[in-house]
Amino acid sequence: MPLSLTVLGTASPHPGPDRPCSGYLLSGGGAEVWVDAGPGTFAALQRYTDPSRLTAIWISHLHADHSADLLAAAYAFAFGGMTPAVPVPLYAPQDCARRLAGFLGLPHLGFLKDVFDFRPLYDGHDVRHWNLRLTARAVAHDSEAYGLRAESQGSVLAYSGDSGPCTALTELACNADLFVCEADIDRHHGGEQVHLTPEDAGHIAQEARVRELLVTHVGPTLTRESATARAAAVFGRTTRPAVEGDIRGI
Ligand SMILES: [Zn+2]
Repeated sequence: MPLSLTVLGTASPHPGPDRPCSGYLLSGGGAEVWVDAGPGTFAALQRYTDPSRLTAIWISHLHADHSADLLAAAYAFAFGGMTPAVPVPLYAPQDCARRLAGFLGLPHLGFLKDVFDFRPLYDGHDVRHWNLRLTARAVAHDSEAYGLRAESQGSVLAYSGDSGPCTALTELACNADLFVCEADIDRHHGGEQVHLTPEDAGHIAQEARVRELLVTHVGPTLTRESATARAAAVFGRTTRPAVEGDIRGI
């Protein structure tokens, strides 16, 4: 199994008991990448790895439910004894450094420079990280947002981040072994489409010919079970809910 995905959190839009917001630990090819830092996921991450050993952090977008625990990590790295050997590469939208510094009241980046190596994402960002290939595509959301494709030795994981239906997402998921896809909303209400219904998730998985769909980021108007059943009815292949603590070999 070249890749392994640990589900740290799936909740939207706020964490619950034993249910952090979005976050995953992606391992493989010598890398350990924390993908999305939703509130609660830094605590969960410590069940599975020593955070000082992370080789990178990858943030889909800067909404709080995907990024707030960067603050927890910054304190752990700087003041908590979980000091990484070098600043951790932090792939995130351009504004990440300024936002974190602003929240912390730092006039410049201050200690953040010692713990994070900020590397801005852009559409088509494609990096070899250890023996992983990480590709980002800009997706349809109401802030700068990216989906992720991770490949190692022929195994492919795709992750939607937060997105409405868009061609980039289907392309990103093309022939993925595992597609971790949001299904945040019960239905669209007109206007800009910035999230997916379960049917959208199933349709994109089908169009992209993925092997398996993992339904995540299910919003408060749905249940994990109902969202998964609705997505499965459209996709027609293996569809499961993402559940905290799941560890999936890919
Ligand atoms: Zn979200």
